[in-house]
Amino acid sequence: MSTVATPSPVMSLLQDRRDIADGTMAFRFDKPPGWVFEPGQFLDMTLRNPVETDAEGNTRSFSIASAPDEDTLMIATRMRDTAFKRVLKTMPIGTAVTIEGPSGKLTLQNDLTRSAVFLAGGIGITPFRSMLVQAAHQKRPQRLVLFYSNRRPEDAPFLEDLRALQHDNPRYSLVASMSEMARSHRPWTGETGLIDQAMLSRHLDGTAAPLYYIAGPPGMVKALHAMLTAQSVNEGDIHAEEFLGY
Ligand SMILES: Cc1cc2nc3c(=O)[nH]c(=O)nc-3n(C[C@H](O)[C@H](O)[C@H](O)COP(=O)(O)OP(=O)(O)OC[C@H]3O[C@@H](n4cnc5c(N)ncnc54)[C@H](O)[C@@H]3O)c2cc1C
Repeated sequence: MSTVATPSPVMSLLQDRRDIADGTMAFRFDKPPGWVFEPGQFLDMTLRNPVETDAEGNTRSFSIASAPDEDTLMIATRMRDTAFKRVLKTMPIGTAVTIEGPSGKLTLQNDLTRSAVFLAGGIGITPFRSMLVQAAHQKRPQRLVLFYSNRRPEDAPFLEDLRALQHDNPRYSLVASMSEMARSHRPWTGETGLIDQAMLSRHLDGTAAPLYYIAGPPGMVKALHAMLTAQSVNEGDIHAEEFLGY
């Protein structure tokens, strides 16, 4: 018989919401007493008596974008025009939702001797924001390199926070890349194009056998996973999570 306790559903209240990129919002909920998680895990959120619903139902999975040391539970999402997200966007501050979890195994491995390399596209940044903020708080002695790809700076959630975090943690560096700057109204001097092997090599020079973490929409995760295995990276050194539903 299993001795692992199944987490029970608990209630949590919406504290605030804000735009974090074009068509993308972050929502902060209060953290129920005793609710603990590891950076990188996700929760299942259920709307209670929503004013509208659709065939996909009232529950979605979201990676927890806040770090355990932060006061609230934050999620972030692309605001597609679905019943769930219309309700999330308009429900009054203080509205209760049900959360279940935490779940998921996309967490930082304990081996501090190897660098950690994060590959994120767009909203796939959520579990990595949690890991990187926590690592900075805890002064984790490990090199951390985030490759973060978006179409335009306007589309990139938490971009400025992730850039500023480099000042808090000298062992962390950000490589942001934009794939559609022709459609942007902002200046950009960083990398352009999708994350590929050449980009990794340019920035990981001298980094021996890092551990890789990938998160985001299934197509992107599969493509980056295939890129790494084609370079003979061991399967056991790749930790990936697909955001099913995109
Ligand atoms: C472990 C895990 C972690 C996740 N973490 C996050 C996270 O941090 N942030 C996040 O945003 N999501 C995350 N997701 C995905 C999330 O659970 C939802 O599936 C996703 O946000 C889509 O929800 P929705 O309400 O927009 O679409 P749904 O109503 O759930 O629609 C599902 C399907 O409808 C279609 N569809 C609906 N609207 C559109 C549209 N506008 N354009 C094209 N197709 C459409 C798509 O085919 C889609 O597969 C995660 C999923 C998993 C499994």
